[in-house]
Amino acid sequence: MDFHHTDDAVTRRMKVLEERINKMKSHDLYFYNQAVDEILDGARVRVHGRVMGMYASYSYLGLVAHPRINEAAKKAVDKFGTGTNGVRTLAGTLTIHNELEETIANFKHAEAAITFSSGYATNLSVISTLMGRGDYIFSDKLNHASIVDGCLMSGAEFRRFRHNDMAHLENLLANAPADVAKLVIADSVFSMDGDIIDLPKVLELTKKYNAWLMIDEAHSVGVLGEKGTGIEEYFGLGDVIDIKMGTLSKTIPSVGGYVAAKKEIIDYLRHSSRAYIFSAALPPAQAAAANEAFKVILDERWRIQRLNENTKQFIRGLKSMGFDTMLTETAIVPVLCGTDEAAFMVTAEAQHHDVFVLPVVSPAVPEGLARLRATVTAAHEPSEIERAMDVICEAGKKVGIIK
Ligand SMILES: *Cc1c(COP(=O)(O)O)cnc(C)c1O
Repeated sequence: MDFHHTDDAVTRRMKVLEERINKMKSHDLYFYNQAVDEILDGARVRVHGRVMGMYASYSYLGLVAHPRINEAAKKAVDKFGTGTNGVRTLAGTLTIHNELEETIANFKHAEAAITFSSGYATNLSVISTLMGRGDYIFSDKLNHASIVDGCLMSGAEFRRFRHNDMAHLENLLANAPADVAKLVIADSVFSMDGDIIDLPKVLELTKKYNAWLMIDEAHSVGVLGEKGTGIEEYFGLGDVIDIKMGTLSKTIPSVGGYVAAKKEIIDYLRHSSRAYIFSAALPPAQAAAANEAFKVILDERWRIQRLNENTKQFIRGLKSMGFDTMLTETAIVPVLCGTDEAAFMVTAEAQHHDVFVLPVVSPAVPEGLARLRATVTAAHEPSEIERAMDVICEAGKKVGIIK
């Protein structure tokens, strides 16, 4: 790299990263940002002209390219065009946005809902709108980056509790001043580990210490509960979470983020949240696709059953081969490799045998806990999962992770 402002801290940081990437590329171990040529179905993609089994997608129910959802998107384009050319507050609100928010509120058993242009923007904006200087936020150590960024942006006191450690959370709550506003925030299903937050206990603590509760349902909608409505259904609880955040980009094959909550909270966000007020509304096709997808989830309950069966098969199979899948109980299945290099090598072996998995390494996960972050969906056939596990098994043996 050659810039006129040579050798300042920025240039040095870029150089360090460039070297790390070049080293990976020179060993044929760089797998990020690969372009998919074609989505064949929820389970298979074409990459570099080769058909590969997809084990890195968040399309948990296999809804990507679902005919009903595609059709809804096409109709919306015919009716509204492709962009909104404005923010929601001014000229950007279309009837399809209001329909989508009503659908989400019903699906989440909440009074109302508000949508944003991404899940990331939702967390950033919602947390920093609700919380501010002098308030206290309590956040699980493994929470998603967008939550962490929202907490930092808010300027509130930021306390992190050990992962899913309720005694530690209580300790932090008990040590905060009694008269300040408090927010407890956690992923429902943790995005790197696949385990589930202890919602009943968190709820008990938020009541005891008079704290608001916000849960990020990016990986639980369409995944948890018999109807797939998420973590409250999974634990047999009603409408107990104050702020139910989710994304429209995972099980829901669209883009965007949302919060479902009491009407007062939604009204407040609609008139105070900067990502809502100062960023363009969701494109009509994406809003319509998301709206239809929530309905498909309720109409096609068999998909959740398939996902649960596939998840069990995948976790049980990998464990029996000797892999450490950590504490996962969901379709996000970490396959622990240890060093970053081991994770890259297992990925290379798997991809060379047409199994599309990706590694997660430091700093996204702690050093020494590098892993494949594999996912299964309702679209996979049991025989395909068997084959993928055989490939991962061979790769694990070759790299020396299992015997
Ligand atoms: C993916 C994800 C987000 C961000 O959602 P996008 O819609 O992709 O911006 C937020 N929280 C969690 C836990 C996620 O996994």
